[in-house]
Amino acid sequence: MIESIIEKAKAESQKGQLASYIPALANQPKDLFAAYLIDENGEVLKFGDIDFKFTLQSISKVMNFIVAAESLGLDNVLDKVDVEPTGDPFNSIVRLEVAEKGKPFNPMINAGAITVASLLPGKSVDARVQSVTDFLAEVTGHAHAVNQEVYQSELETAYRNRAIANYLKANNYLEGTVEEAVETYLQLCSIEVSTEDLAKFGLFLAYDGLDTSQDKRLISQKTAQFTKALMMTCGLYNASGKYAATVGFPMKSGVSGGILGTIQTGQVEHLKGRMGIAVFSAAIDEVGNSVAGMHFLESLSEQYDLSVF
Ligand code: GLN
Repeated sequence: MIESIIEKAKAESQKGQLASYIPALANQPKDLFAAYLIDENGEVLKFGDIDFKFTLQSISKVMNFIVAAESLGLDNVLDKVDVEPTGDPFNSIVRLEVAEKGKPFNPMINAGAITVASLLPGKSVDARVQSVTDFLAEVTGHAHAVNQEVYQSELETAYRNRAIANYLKANNYLEGTVEEAVETYLQLCSIEVSTEDLAKFGLFLAYDGLDTSQDKRLISQKTAQFTKALMMTCGLYNASGKYAATVGFPMKSGVSGGILGTIQTGQVEHLKGRMGIAVFSAAIDEVGNSVAGMHFLESLSEQYDLSVF
């Protein structure tokens, strides 16, 4: 059943494009597809090109928020960033000018994520990035590198992100310099992962921050709940509402074509209860979500009744 869903999803990917505004992402192979599911018993279903590594891009906003909330305290992070969806594109600037005090709306869009990246623990850009790679490594069980080619490519073309960071700095939301915040944010976007890593992360969130492989709580339940609420309401850019209706579980996408999902319901025959799910396919739609990835998740959710609603 899942294989036939994948065949249909892969055919849809022709409608998408590579994220060419970041030159290094325009080189990604367009015809790869990977899906990885892990259930609460550690049982795995894997399909396609699961060995392929891609960069987190906006999926890093999830880890970024968690590490900041855990190290600074959730309330201190929420002083600097709200938890409201915008309905605007991820790299929009408009609300920083018109909203009261220019407070970024949520940590899942660039304005919020750049703010959160500047709050991360550590005295240098590298130390702040490492706070996130260390956390990710704890969940996935192995070290994660920053893809330098993608990072340099982003850095050279980050005109909008620098503009956003300048607005944020002018309104006193950033710690440190504008360039430090942008560099930290873009390095986080360039961390390499596989669908297996993201599926493990999804299971970890499904357990509200309990790492079942170590039987150890890594983050508070409250941080996990905020994270999942943010993913559900803001995780898929300005298509978050539509996919809350059609897929119905928390997800976060990135413009490299990856999607992280976390599931706490559903009656899949061999995969019950809590589940982590990840999908990768590089062609994205005009909003920034993987075309085949979202098609796959919509069909899977419909077939197996995975929506929380
Ligand atoms: N690094 C990308 C950017 O800021 C991430 C965007 C995304 O995945 N939506 O433009």
